[in-house]
Amino acid sequence: MSYPDTSHLDYITGEPIADTKAPAGPVAERWDTRRFEAKLVNPANRRKHRIIVVGTGLAGGSAGATLAEQGYQVVQFCFQDSPRRAHSIAAQGGINAAKNYRNDGDSVHRLFYDTVKGGDFRARESNVHRLAQISVEIIDQCVAQGVPFAREYGGLLDTRSFGGVQVSRTFYARGQTGQQLLLGAYQALSRQIAAGNVEMHARTEMLDLVVVDGRARGIVARDLITGRISTHYADAVVLATGGYGNVFYLSTNAMNSNATAVWRAHRRGAYFANPCFTQIHPTCIPRTGDHQSKLTLMSESLRNDGRIWVPKAKGDTRPAADIPEDERDYYLERIYPSFGNLVPRDIASRAAKNVCDEGRGVGPGGQGVYLDFADAIRRMGRTAVEEKYGNLFEMYERITAENPYEVPMRIYPAVHYTMGGLWVDYDLQTTIPGLFAIGEANFSDHGANRLGASALMQGLADGYFVLPATINDYLARHPHGEPVTDDHPAVRDVLAETEDRLNLLLSVDGDRTPDSFHRELGELMWEYCGMARTEEGLTEALRRIPEIREEFWRRVKVPGTGEEFNQSLEKANRIVDYLELAELMCLDALHRAESCGGHFREESQTPDGEAARRDEEFAYVAAWEFQGPGGRPPGERGTGRDRPPVLHKEDLVFEYVHPTQRSYA
Ligand SMILES: Cc1cc2nc3c(=O)[nH]c(=O)nc-3n(C[C@H](O)[C@H](O)[C@H](O)COP(=O)(O)OP(=O)(O)OC[C@H]3O[C@@H](n4cnc5c(N)ncnc54)[C@H](O)[C@@H]3O)c2cc1C
Repeated sequence: MSYPDTSHLDYITGEPIADTKAPAGPVAERWDTRRFEAKLVNPANRRKHRIIVVGTGLAGGSAGATLAEQGYQVVQFCFQDSPRRAHSIAAQGGINAAKNYRNDGDSVHRLFYDTVKGGDFRARESNVHRLAQISVEIIDQCVAQGVPFAREYGGLLDTRSFGGVQVSRTFYARGQTGQQLLLGAYQALSRQIAAGNVEMHARTEMLDLVVVDGRARGIVARDLITGRISTHYADAVVLATGGYGNVFYLSTNAMNSNATAVWRAHRRGAYFANPCFTQIHPTCIPRTGDHQSKLTLMSESLRNDGRIWVPKAKGDTRPAADIPEDERDYYLERIYPSFGNLVPRDIASRAAKNVCDEGRGVGPGGQGVYLDFADAIRRMGRTAVEEKYGNLFEMYERITAENPYEVPMRIYPAVHYTMGGLWVDYDLQTTIPGLFAIGEANFSDHGANRLGASALMQGLADGYFVLPATINDYLARHPHGEPVTDDHPAVRDVLAETEDRLNLLLSVDGDRTPDSFHRELGELMWEYCGMARTEEGLTEALRRIPEIREEFWRRVKVPGTGEEFNQSLEKANRIVDYLELAELMCLDALHRAESCGGHFREESQTPDGEAARRDEEFAYVAAWEFQGPGGRPPGERGTGRDRPPVLHKEDLVFEYVHPTQRSYA
């Protein structure tokens, strides 16, 4: 059996994206302008509209609750057994907002500036400014819901600092900020479920998108308990399905987080933007062996008080306590004295990799650096440290059996977040009319590197504030289309494709588990599309991925049937999508022959080893269009290579924050 050659730069350059729908005028007024110009749907008409929201994390939960509160009929989905178990619950450290409670020089403009700079000048100014403006409203909204943010003695909300900034603007609820925020959104959603305005489908996975006459009109979903495939129709569809970091197999994401919804939408016509922009978080518990299936994050908030160091000498295997002060290298404080341990994540991660590559890493295999609280405990006392970080310390001890109050934590970078995602315009609408993407599922506001505590901010900004304003405009301009039923040819096609794909997976009956393919793909991605990327490595990855895909379709073993609870089938179906998405990620990484943020091309670095952007050539968002399946052997859907994707460039214009070489020294 022969498969088409996969030439690594196999893509077509298409028309640039000229209009992102952001209004003209001063950046600080654009969101007000857009809201004023957006058409409204009158309250009596809202109840006639159905909106599908896929996802119940912070983005989807807040959107579903708000849209239902506005009077729309919402039909909502998640694959967990309860909306409140969405992956957002794992967020630990905090959420940014330009409240300036500390009076330390913060402002909306400074949050905007920090975020554009932190993203290494690969984000849109209009969106980022809007995010900074809305940040203050989010805190008010959540406080009103009763979210128990930490407070200072005087009663004001407390804040702490996160990487890449010099002010203290991160609001938190101990190390459980995501959980507390999600409980706020979940209770608002529950109220609407009880009121009959939200029809909630838990344990139900969207497997495809229904597009009728060029508009998103519904989804195909599978009940994960019974295996029943169903269709659901609406006037608009919102994807709030989270990030795709699990393409790397090992990541800090929840095990079930996956890319199926966004990838299927991409295959139906939604552009995928900057797929290679992945965030590698510097403070994760190092991997312990080959059989691990999950990595654990230690919140970035720990860098407020923990000091990062390695021994000065290579191969120094003495216990930390035996290494005297003058033989320790607090390398972040040394290289970046202004920001010290609070440099942005991409910079901290690369620095950790560099010292480990030099042979100065600690712990098994030398793949770790110390995060040491001895100074903080001396300065603040153990009780104060415990109050701030107690649950994180406890989690660390449970996993490693080491007591971080007594010995320094060991940390190493791991895949954590994906800045790439579905391309959306200023209204958060994808290139498929009626399909919106919010939260981590869109390519969003973070450019090439997300600053800590800004994902929760963006998810809630999208869900509570932006989408509810912009989706009105879409619905007002596109009052009810023709009712869609299962007889519609477009629906019949999607249903048949979904069923065929599942049946094909069940019928291969090979000799390898889905997980073994996922692990193989993940290792390849980490090696070649991870913390450092080269033309040679990416070319190799692009050669290997189609081979793994071909082998997958020949050798995967999915036991059981489709008409039952079948986790093997769930996994295999998600891996089908990872195997295609991974290829686009590598192609995107290969074509972007510059370094920026989390995308570090070794060929493009400054003399002192920092990421060197090439603004003249690459100051754009890379939005990829799926061209359709092609070159596949008949009858073997899913194997081989799709037709070359089309690259649409959206030029980034910086009127307010002028691109410079980032400096945190
Ligand atoms: C360990 C960890 C700690 C973090 N800490 C912070 C922090 O302190 N501050 C910060 O700002 N950010 C943090 N982040 C990032 C942040 O938590 C996430 O980016 C954010 O919560 C994503 O929210 P979301 O609503 O977009 O998606 P998610 O919370 O991932 O929710 C996705 C939802 O979509 C559903 N879904 C997905 N696919 C389908 C499908 N096909 N069919 C049906 N349903 C589907 C899921 O069931 C789920 O309900 C952290 C991330 C991790 C991993």
